[in-house]
Amino acid sequence: MRVTKTLSISALALVAALTMAGCAGGADEAEAPEVEQTEFAAGSTMAKLQEAGEITIGTKFDQPLFGQVDVDGDPQGFDVEMGKLIAAKLGISEDNITWTETVSANREPFIESGEVDVVIATYTINDARKEVISFAGPYYEAGQDLLVLAGNPEGIEGPEDLTGKAVCTVSGSTSEKNIAEYTTDVIATGGYADCLEPLRTGAVVAVTTDNVILAGLADQNSPEFEVVGNPFTEEPYGIGLAKDDTDFRNFINDVLEESYEDGTWAEAWENTAGVVLDTPEPPAVDRY
Ligand code: GLU
Repeated sequence: MRVTKTLSISALALVAALTMAGCAGGADEAEAPEVEQTEFAAGSTMAKLQEAGEITIGTKFDQPLFGQVDVDGDPQGFDVEMGKLIAAKLGISEDNITWTETVSANREPFIESGEVDVVIATYTINDARKEVISFAGPYYEAGQDLLVLAGNPEGIEGPEDLTGKAVCTVSGSTSEKNIAEYTTDVIATGGYADCLEPLRTGAVVAVTTDNVILAGLADQNSPEFEVVGNPFTEEPYGIGLAKDDTDFRNFINDVLEESYEDGTWAEAWENTAGVVLDTPEPPAVDRY
């Protein structure tokens, strides 16, 4: 497995923290998906990737449970497992996946420029993004929530309680857009882990993004924080790919549906996010 991009400061801090804790997450024990050799239509993205024998996947490097680099610098998490499943169906082994760090703000540009073949990065499917890229999936449905200090000293039960209060989120995310309806006092960082220190110091009263990202951060920093548990948006996670590459989108949707049926989706969940969260029912893919 290859990893590109310089690690962000928060990812480096995290590697140090994980090294000290001697803990790298549960995905290491997961079995690699079986690599398959299928015949794809000549000229298709699938045929090109199969022929190249390698794929570049954009994912998060600093989000526990979904995409986070371990002590060896290899990303682990549910999004990473989805990437391995897709690669295997293209005849590409884990060793031939290049993982590139994508942050919330650069996902569409990285797909548009061809810097990555796909993005699997807690990436909400929405119409604005569909203007410039296409999505397979959804393969999971999250909802935006709030992370507060343990014991919830400000008594925040939902976004309505944030009027006039400072909140931290990440630029380029749907979380940033959605929270603007409730408060104008928003600090937008490069990654959600960068929001934890402002929450600790009281510079903000809450961190906001998808509930499952917040659950991972709360778990990793237990017992400092808690998730309010009152999701106020729908965030269907999709796999971003080049706009209008319909054959590739159909192929990935087929891989997802197959993984729902043969149990590999549930297994991927249980080995990653499932360490902290219950196993959900997989959502129906949307062949829009
Ligand atoms: N799912 C949301 C989004 O795609 C928030 C999480 C993230 O920034 O990755 O913007």
